[in-house]
Amino acid sequence: MDTKVLISGAGPTGLVLALFLRHLNIPFRIIDKLSGPGLASRAMVIQARTLEFYRQINFADTVIAAGIKMRGIRLRESGKQIAGFQFDEIGDDISPYPYVLSLPQDDHERLLVAQLRTLGIEVEWNTELNRCVDHGSSVAATLHSESGESTADFRYLVGCDGAHSTVRESLNLSFPGGTYDEIFFVTDCDARGLHFDDSVNISLTKGTFILAFPVRSKGSFRFIGVVPPGHGDPLHATFDDIRPILKKQLNAEVNSVHWFSTYRVHHRVAENFRKRNIFLAGDAGHIHSPAGGQGMNTGIGDAVNLAWKLAAVLDRRADTSILDTYESERIAFAHTLVESTDRIFQAVVGPGPGPAFVRSVLMPYIIPWALRLRAIRRAQFRLVSQTRIHYPNSAISRGHAGKLRGGDRLPWLATQNNFAPLRSLDWQVHVYGEASDNVRAICDHRYIPLIRFKYDEAARGAGIPKDAALLIRPDGYIACVATSRTLDELATFLDRWKIAPRLTPR
Ligand SMILES: Cc1cc2nc3c(=O)[nH]c(=O)nc-3n(C[C@H](O)[C@H](O)[C@H](O)COP(=O)(O)OP(=O)(O)OC[C@H]3O[C@@H](n4cnc5c(N)ncnc54)[C@H](O)[C@@H]3O)c2cc1C
Repeated sequence: MDTKVLISGAGPTGLVLALFLRHLNIPFRIIDKLSGPGLASRAMVIQARTLEFYRQINFADTVIAAGIKMRGIRLRESGKQIAGFQFDEIGDDISPYPYVLSLPQDDHERLLVAQLRTLGIEVEWNTELNRCVDHGSSVAATLHSESGESTADFRYLVGCDGAHSTVRESLNLSFPGGTYDEIFFVTDCDARGLHFDDSVNISLTKGTFILAFPVRSKGSFRFIGVVPPGHGDPLHATFDDIRPILKKQLNAEVNSVHWFSTYRVHHRVAENFRKRNIFLAGDAGHIHSPAGGQGMNTGIGDAVNLAWKLAAVLDRRADTSILDTYESERIAFAHTLVESTDRIFQAVVGPGPGPAFVRSVLMPYIIPWALRLRAIRRAQFRLVSQTRIHYPNSAISRGHAGKLRGGDRLPWLATQNNFAPLRSLDWQVHVYGEASDNVRAICDHRYIPLIRFKYDEAARGAGIPKDAALLIRPDGYIACVATSRTLDELATFLDRWKIAPRLTPR
């Protein structure tokens, strides 16, 4: 069994898992039942946290060069801007990427496939996973391709096979949740009359909302929204049913429509993300409203979280129980995301006095006022960009000092480019200030790179404790925060989880 992992599904989740496993030198196969990358532009936005992960594998610049940087958010009513802010004025000390990147999913997938190819990996297209059986020490996967049916054994199988996941069904895992009554529309078109300066535009009115932003090139736009009432069966609405509200609310004169579709939106989280040697990631594990641009980015977050844990266990560089933390970390976030997008969605377009209040008072009066507060704008950016995701309750999160606790994402310090060492995809200790002899001894003894940074104003502002040892995981989250008084926790942590960095000689 030379090939350790089978990735079933080459959507964004499977492709990113493949890229990270390749960088971590884990042998795997990636299959997809389709004949090539997807053709629909579906997920249009790449959030800052995803770009931070891509930076770790030298892929961020490629993606950024292909997309459009959307630097602000505008709230609109009848075409007029009633509130808004620029991401870079509030986010440039939060992330190296203080914007939302607009890049259609089909273009994004093609870039991922090309990047894999440069690293010597080909996706096996036209290859479908039909069945899988977990035998305890391996998983037998029955695959169907042009050459017929075959069975192969793998140590682990990851189902990145989308909302209708064969893997989830084979595991008999339920997918509880619901389906909204409202029908969404999505369209990409060329439009005139819009004065959108590369920003995300949100327009609200009774019974619908519309998100609008530039796509592919200037002059072409993506509109997503809820089909407004009064058009018969909304699932069969056509672009002509939508055209008047685009004109009324966004002053958009559409001259050519590249793509129009209506669809139902589900909100569901699988019962588990893991059963023994089989994992679920991406839409196979969670689906929800596309309104916040979170779905694909969350799948990519799953992939990165799982990749380094699988690699660590397969290389015997961590205790096998570290794999349990994949589900506990990611399912908790999936639940929070699905519940919060559901609450926001119901509050905005749902029936009853609550949503009416949101539309008639909150949106035009209170939100514009609130958005003048820098703290609120920063909180919004952190939320949408996924830089706020943290794992305080994870079994691999320990200690706290200053404003940091185990499980937090390493704060980004523009002054010192402290994300640069994360390119190693390996464990490391950061000290901002002076590293004590004891910290040096722990790191030397275990071959853990110790990286020292200055304790400057930016470090203080980010709440980093001076001279503390921050043990950083391969995905850029802090596993353990240890001060001189709690240094034992660092050593205990490393022993408990049998952490051996990739540099450790064998
Ligand atoms: C209209 C629309 C707009 C959206 N906008 C956004 C957005 O702006 N931002 C965002 O983050 N998300 C958005 N999403 C959600 C986003 O598209 C999904 O979250 C994303 O595609 C999930 O990626 P995935 O790789 O997990 O699954 P998928 O993209 O569904 O990929 C699964 C892959 O598995 C393959 N497969 C399935 N079964 C098998 C099998 N048995 N054997 C082999 N292969 C198999 C499929 O062929 C497919 O290629 C949007 C979705 C829609 C529909």
